[in-house]
Amino acid sequence: MTKKVSISSQKTIGRFAPSPSGRMHLGNIYTALAAWLCAKSAGGKFLLRIEDLDPVRCPRANAEQILSDLEWLGITWDNPDIPYQSERTAVYEKYFKQLTDKNLVYPCFCSRAQLHVADAPHASDGRVVYAGTCRRLTAEEVREKTKQRKPAARLILPDTEISFCDGCYGPQSFNLARDWGDIIIRRSDGVFAYQLAVTIDDGLMGVTQVVRGSDLLSSAAPQIYLFQILGFDAPEYLHLPMLITHDGARLAKRDKAADLGFLREQLPGPEPLLGYIACLLGQLSKPEPLKATDILPLFNQKKIPGHDIIIPGNFWENL
Ligand code: GLU
Repeated sequence: MTKKVSISSQKTIGRFAPSPSGRMHLGNIYTALAAWLCAKSAGGKFLLRIEDLDPVRCPRANAEQILSDLEWLGITWDNPDIPYQSERTAVYEKYFKQLTDKNLVYPCFCSRAQLHVADAPHASDGRVVYAGTCRRLTAEEVREKTKQRKPAARLILPDTEISFCDGCYGPQSFNLARDWGDIIIRRSDGVFAYQLAVTIDDGLMGVTQVVRGSDLLSSAAPQIYLFQILGFDAPEYLHLPMLITHDGARLAKRDKAADLGFLREQLPGPEPLLGYIACLLGQLSKPEPLKATDILPLFNQKKIPGHDIIIPGNFWENL
Protein backbone atom coordinates (compact mmCIF):
# COMPACT_ATOMS: atom_id res chain seq x y z
CA MET A 1 0.00 0.00 0.00
CA THR A 2 1.29 3.47 -0.79
CA LYS A 3 1.55 5.91 2.09
CA LYS A 4 -0.73 8.93 1.76
CA VAL A 5 0.88 12.29 2.48
CA SER A 6 -1.60 14.71 3.99
CA ILE A 7 -1.94 17.87 1.88
CA SER A 8 -1.24 20.13 4.87
CA SER A 9 2.18 18.58 5.54
CA GLN A 10 3.22 19.05 1.91
CA LYS A 11 4.91 22.35 1.22
CA THR A 12 3.66 24.18 -1.83
CA ILE A 13 6.18 24.51 -4.64
CA GLY A 14 4.99 26.73 -7.45
CA ARG A 15 6.82 27.78 -10.57
CA PHE A 16 6.93 30.10 -13.55
CA ALA A 17 8.27 28.51 -16.74
CA PRO A 18 8.49 31.10 -19.52
CA SER A 19 9.57 30.30 -23.08
CA PRO A 20 11.97 33.10 -24.00
CA SER A 21 10.78 33.55 -27.57
CA GLY A 22 10.57 37.33 -27.07
CA ARG A 23 10.15 40.06 -24.49
CA MET A 24 7.59 39.47 -21.72
CA HIS A 25 4.19 40.99 -22.35
CA LEU A 26 1.15 41.71 -20.21
CA GLY A 27 -0.02 38.07 -20.45
CA ASN A 28 3.30 36.66 -19.20
CA ILE A 29 3.53 39.21 -16.39
CA TYR A 30 -0.03 38.38 -15.32
CA THR A 31 0.83 34.65 -15.28
CA ALA A 32 4.08 35.24 -13.38
CA LEU A 33 2.40 37.43 -10.76
CA ALA A 34 -0.52 35.01 -10.30
CA ALA A 35 1.82 32.02 -9.95
CA TRP A 36 4.01 33.93 -7.47
CA LEU A 37 0.98 35.02 -5.41
CA CYS A 38 -0.49 31.50 -5.34
CA ALA A 39 2.78 29.93 -4.14
CA LYS A 40 3.71 32.66 -1.67
CA SER A 41 0.22 33.00 -0.18
CA ALA A 42 0.35 29.26 0.57
CA GLY A 43 3.64 29.82 2.42
CA GLY A 44 5.46 27.97 -0.33
CA LYS A 45 8.44 28.34 -2.61
CA PHE A 46 8.40 29.81 -6.09
CA LEU A 47 10.78 28.42 -8.70
CA LEU A 48 11.83 29.77 -12.06
CA ARG A 49 12.67 27.63 -15.08
CA ILE A 50 13.54 28.74 -18.59
CA GLU A 51 11.79 26.71 -21.30
CA ASP A 52 14.20 27.31 -24.17
CA LEU A 53 13.91 23.87 -25.77
CA ASP A 54 14.03 25.39 -29.23
CA PRO A 55 17.41 27.16 -29.35
CA VAL A 56 16.55 29.01 -32.58
CA ARG A 57 13.33 30.57 -31.27
CA CYS A 58 14.72 31.14 -27.77
CA PRO A 59 18.11 32.89 -27.76
CA ARG A 60 19.92 33.30 -24.43
CA ALA A 61 19.63 37.09 -24.52
CA ASN A 62 15.82 36.82 -24.30
CA ALA A 63 16.08 34.66 -21.17
CA GLU A 64 18.43 37.17 -19.56
CA GLN A 65 15.93 39.92 -20.37
CA ILE A 66 13.18 37.91 -18.62
CA LEU A 67 15.31 37.62 -15.46
CA SER A 68 15.95 41.35 -15.44
CA ASP A 69 12.26 42.12 -16.13
CA LEU A 70 11.15 39.87 -13.26
CA GLU A 71 13.62 41.63 -10.97
CA TRP A 72 12.23 45.00 -12.06
CA LEU A 73 8.72 43.71 -11.31
CA GLY A 74 9.78 42.50 -7.86
CA ILE A 75 8.73 38.92 -8.63
CA THR A 76 11.41 36.93 -6.82
CA TRP A 77 12.30 33.26 -7.21
CA ASP A 78 13.75 30.86 -4.64
CA ASN A 79 16.05 28.68 -6.77
CA PRO A 80 19.54 30.17 -7.15
CA ASP A 81 20.24 27.73 -10.01
CA ILE A 82 17.72 28.31 -12.75
CA PRO A 83 17.23 25.24 -14.99
CA TYR A 84 17.50 25.99 -18.71
CA GLN A 85 15.80 23.29 -20.72
CA SER A 86 18.34 23.70 -23.53
CA GLU A 87 20.99 22.33 -21.14
CA ARG A 88 18.99 19.35 -19.94
CA THR A 89 18.97 17.07 -22.98
CA ALA A 90 20.82 14.28 -21.11
CA VAL A 91 18.14 14.29 -18.39
CA TYR A 92 15.33 14.04 -20.97
CA GLU A 93 17.24 11.25 -22.78
CA LYS A 94 17.17 9.15 -19.63
CA TYR A 95 13.39 9.38 -19.20
CA PHE A 96 12.82 9.01 -22.94
CA LYS A 97 14.71 5.71 -22.75
CA GLN A 98 12.43 4.53 -19.92
CA LEU A 99 9.45 5.10 -22.20
CA THR A 100 11.03 3.41 -25.22
CA ASP A 101 12.07 0.45 -23.04
CA LYS A 102 8.40 0.06 -22.08
CA ASN A 103 7.42 0.05 -25.80
CA LEU A 104 5.35 3.17 -25.37
CA VAL A 105 7.07 5.13 -28.13
CA TYR A 106 7.17 4.67 -31.92
CA PRO A 107 8.79 6.53 -34.82
CA CYS A 108 6.54 8.81 -36.87
CA PHE A 109 7.44 9.79 -40.44
CA CYS A 110 4.34 11.85 -41.24
CA SER A 111 4.97 15.26 -42.77
CA ARG A 112 3.19 18.37 -41.57
CA ALA A 113 1.05 18.30 -44.73
CA GLN A 114 0.01 14.68 -44.10
CA LEU A 115 -1.03 15.56 -40.56
CA HIS A 116 -3.20 18.48 -41.61
CA VAL A 117 -5.26 16.80 -44.33
CA ALA A 118 -8.83 18.07 -44.35
CA ASP A 119 -10.40 14.94 -42.86
CA ALA A 120 -7.95 14.67 -39.93
CA PRO A 121 -9.82 14.39 -36.62
CA HIS A 122 -9.76 17.58 -34.54
CA ALA A 123 -10.05 18.13 -30.79
CA SER A 124 -12.67 20.60 -29.57
CA ASP A 125 -10.04 23.40 -29.50
CA GLY A 126 -9.09 22.80 -33.16
CA ARG A 127 -5.87 20.82 -32.60
CA VAL A 128 -5.32 17.95 -35.02
CA VAL A 129 -5.63 14.60 -33.24
CA TYR A 130 -3.08 12.21 -34.72
CA ALA A 131 -4.78 9.29 -36.45
CA GLY A 132 -2.09 6.78 -35.41
CA THR A 133 -0.88 6.14 -38.99
CA CYS A 134 2.74 5.28 -38.10
CA ARG A 135 1.76 3.18 -35.09
CA ARG A 136 0.74 0.49 -37.58
CA LEU A 137 4.05 0.35 -39.53
CA THR A 138 5.89 -2.97 -39.65
CA ALA A 139 9.57 -3.18 -38.61
CA GLU A 140 10.48 -3.52 -42.29
CA GLU A 141 8.52 -0.38 -43.24
CA VAL A 142 10.21 1.54 -40.44
CA ARG A 143 13.64 0.46 -41.75
CA GLU A 144 12.77 1.59 -45.28
CA LYS A 145 11.30 4.92 -44.21
CA THR A 146 14.26 5.68 -41.93
CA LYS A 147 16.44 5.71 -45.08
CA GLN A 148 14.29 8.55 -46.50
CA ARG A 149 13.73 10.83 -43.48
CA LYS A 150 14.46 11.17 -39.78
CA PRO A 151 11.40 10.27 -37.72
CA ALA A 152 9.85 12.12 -34.80
CA ALA A 153 8.98 10.01 -31.73
CA ARG A 154 5.39 9.62 -30.58
CA LEU A 155 4.11 8.46 -27.22
CA ILE A 156 1.13 6.09 -27.31
CA LEU A 157 -1.76 7.65 -25.40
CA PRO A 158 -4.30 5.03 -24.30
CA ASP A 159 -8.09 5.22 -24.41
CA THR A 160 -8.12 6.45 -20.81
CA GLU A 161 -10.01 9.23 -19.06
CA ILE A 162 -7.88 11.67 -17.05
CA SER A 163 -9.81 13.72 -14.49
CA PHE A 164 -8.62 16.50 -12.22
CA CYS A 165 -10.06 19.51 -10.43
CA ASP A 166 -8.68 22.80 -11.70
CA GLY A 167 -8.29 25.58 -9.14
CA CYS A 168 -10.10 28.03 -11.40
CA TYR A 169 -12.13 25.97 -13.92
CA GLY A 170 -13.29 23.19 -11.57
CA PRO A 171 -13.66 19.49 -12.47
CA GLN A 172 -12.10 18.50 -15.80
CA SER A 173 -12.02 15.27 -17.73
CA PHE A 174 -10.20 14.42 -20.97
CA ASN A 175 -9.93 11.18 -22.88
CA LEU A 176 -6.29 10.81 -23.95
CA ALA A 177 -6.96 8.92 -27.19
CA ARG A 178 -9.95 11.03 -28.26
CA ASP A 179 -8.82 14.47 -27.14
CA TRP A 180 -5.10 14.10 -27.81
CA GLY A 181 -4.10 11.05 -29.81
CA ASP A 182 -0.46 9.91 -29.69
CA ILE A 183 1.73 12.95 -28.98
CA ILE A 184 5.17 13.86 -30.29
CA ILE A 185 7.67 13.73 -27.44
CA ARG A 186 10.77 14.23 -29.59
CA ARG A 187 10.91 16.14 -32.84
CA SER A 188 12.61 14.73 -35.94
CA ASP A 189 15.53 17.16 -35.37
CA GLY A 190 16.11 15.51 -31.98
CA VAL A 191 14.69 18.36 -29.86
CA PHE A 192 12.53 17.05 -27.00
CA ALA A 193 8.94 18.28 -27.03
CA TYR A 194 7.29 20.55 -24.49
CA GLN A 195 4.93 17.91 -23.03
CA LEU A 196 7.77 15.57 -22.08
CA ALA A 197 10.26 18.19 -20.87
CA VAL A 198 7.73 20.12 -18.79
CA THR A 199 6.61 16.95 -17.00
CA ILE A 200 10.12 15.72 -16.25
CA ASP A 201 11.17 19.15 -14.99
CA ASP A 202 8.09 19.73 -12.84
CA GLY A 203 8.57 16.21 -11.44
CA LEU A 204 12.28 16.62 -10.67
CA MET A 205 11.81 20.12 -9.23
CA GLY A 206 9.13 18.77 -6.88
CA VAL A 207 6.51 21.19 -8.22
CA THR A 208 3.18 20.75 -6.42
CA GLN A 209 1.26 23.69 -7.92
CA VAL A 210 1.12 24.68 -11.59
CA VAL A 211 -0.42 28.08 -12.37
CA ARG A 212 -0.50 29.04 -16.07
CA GLY A 213 -2.79 30.20 -18.87
CA SER A 214 -5.98 28.31 -19.70
CA ASP A 215 -4.61 27.71 -23.22
CA LEU A 216 -2.75 24.84 -21.49
CA LEU A 217 -5.76 23.46 -19.58
CA SER A 218 -6.15 20.37 -21.78
CA SER A 219 -2.35 19.79 -21.69
CA ALA A 220 -2.73 18.86 -18.04
CA ALA A 221 -4.22 15.53 -19.21
CA PRO A 222 -1.20 14.12 -21.12
CA GLN A 223 1.05 15.64 -18.47
CA ILE A 224 -0.79 13.85 -15.62
CA TYR A 225 -0.47 10.63 -17.62
CA LEU A 226 3.27 11.26 -18.11
CA PHE A 227 3.70 11.95 -14.38
CA GLN A 228 2.06 8.58 -13.69
CA ILE A 229 4.14 6.53 -16.11
CA LEU A 230 7.40 8.27 -15.14
CA GLY A 231 6.72 7.72 -11.44
CA PHE A 232 6.18 11.31 -10.23
CA ASP A 233 3.33 12.80 -8.19
CA ALA A 234 1.18 15.11 -10.32
CA PRO A 235 0.84 18.71 -9.11
CA GLU A 236 -2.37 20.66 -8.52
CA TYR A 237 -3.41 22.87 -11.42
CA LEU A 238 -4.84 26.35 -11.63
CA HIS A 239 -5.37 27.65 -15.15
CA LEU A 240 -5.85 31.37 -15.54
CA PRO A 241 -8.42 33.04 -17.79
CA MET A 242 -6.84 34.35 -20.98
CA LEU A 243 -6.28 38.03 -21.64
CA ILE A 244 -7.93 38.85 -24.95
CA THR A 245 -8.34 41.87 -27.22
CA HIS A 246 -11.71 43.43 -28.16
CA ASP A 247 -12.06 41.16 -31.19
CA GLY A 248 -11.64 38.06 -29.02
CA ALA A 249 -8.05 37.28 -30.10
CA ARG A 250 -5.46 36.28 -27.53
CA LEU A 251 -3.18 39.06 -26.40
CA ALA A 252 0.05 38.35 -28.26
CA LYS A 253 3.53 39.62 -28.95
CA ARG A 254 2.26 41.67 -31.87
CA ASP A 255 0.19 43.83 -29.44
CA LYS A 256 3.01 46.29 -28.94
CA ALA A 257 1.34 48.24 -26.13
CA ALA A 258 1.37 45.08 -24.01
CA ASP A 259 5.13 44.59 -24.47
CA LEU A 260 7.14 45.12 -21.31
CA GLY A 261 9.85 47.01 -23.21
CA PHE A 262 7.23 49.59 -24.18
CA LEU A 263 5.57 49.59 -20.74
CA ARG A 264 8.88 50.13 -18.93
CA GLU A 265 9.46 53.24 -21.05
CA GLN A 266 6.03 54.63 -20.11
CA LEU A 267 6.03 53.88 -16.40
CA PRO A 268 7.98 55.33 -13.46
CA GLY A 269 8.13 51.86 -11.86
CA PRO A 270 6.27 48.52 -11.84
CA GLU A 271 3.62 49.48 -9.25
CA PRO A 272 0.90 50.85 -11.61
CA LEU A 273 1.23 47.76 -13.81
CA LEU A 274 1.14 45.32 -10.88
CA GLY A 275 -1.89 47.08 -9.38
CA TYR A 276 -3.64 46.87 -12.77
CA ILE A 277 -2.89 43.12 -12.97
CA ALA A 278 -4.09 42.61 -9.38
CA CYS A 279 -7.34 44.18 -10.51
CA LEU A 280 -7.53 41.83 -13.55
CA LEU A 281 -6.99 38.94 -11.13
CA GLY A 282 -10.04 40.09 -9.16
CA GLN A 283 -8.00 41.18 -6.12
CA LEU A 284 -8.81 44.93 -6.25
CA SER A 285 -12.05 46.64 -7.24
CA LYS A 286 -10.10 49.41 -9.00
CA PRO A 287 -6.44 49.63 -9.95
CA GLU A 288 -4.00 51.36 -7.63
CA PRO A 289 -0.19 51.31 -7.73
CA LEU A 290 1.10 48.46 -5.56
CA LYS A 291 4.28 46.41 -5.16
CA ALA A 292 4.03 42.61 -5.53
CA THR A 293 4.67 42.31 -1.78
CA ASP A 294 1.74 44.70 -1.08
CA ILE A 295 -0.63 42.54 -3.14
CA LEU A 296 0.38 39.35 -1.32
CA PRO A 297 -1.53 39.99 1.96
CA LEU A 298 -4.67 40.88 -0.06
CA PHE A 299 -4.51 37.83 -2.27
CA ASN A 300 -7.40 35.37 -2.38
CA GLN A 301 -7.15 32.68 -5.05
CA LYS A 302 -10.94 32.21 -5.09
CA LYS A 303 -11.41 35.74 -6.44
CA ILE A 304 -9.66 34.97 -9.76
CA PRO A 305 -12.36 35.33 -12.45
CA GLY A 306 -13.45 32.22 -14.34
CA HIS A 307 -13.78 33.87 -17.77
CA ASP A 308 -11.48 35.49 -20.34
CA ILE A 309 -10.61 39.14 -19.69
CA ILE A 310 -10.80 41.85 -22.38
CA ILE A 311 -7.84 44.24 -22.39
CA PRO A 312 -8.47 47.58 -24.13
CA GLY A 313 -5.79 48.50 -26.69
CA ASN A 314 -4.99 51.71 -24.79
CA PHE A 315 -4.96 50.12 -21.31
CA TRP A 316 -1.52 51.56 -20.57
CA GLU A 317 -2.75 55.17 -20.92
CA ASN A 318 -4.71 54.79 -17.68
CA LEU A 319 -1.98 53.18 -15.59
N1 GLU B 1 6.70 27.55 -21.41
C1 GLU B 1 5.28 27.69 -21.54
C2 GLU B 1 4.94 29.08 -22.04
O1 GLU B 1 5.72 30.01 -21.86
C3 GLU B 1 4.55 27.47 -20.24
C4 GLU B 1 4.54 26.07 -19.85
C5 GLU B 1 3.83 25.74 -18.57
O2 GLU B 1 3.62 26.65 -17.73
O3 GLU B 1 3.53 24.58 -18.39
O4 GLU B 1 3.88 29.24 -22.60
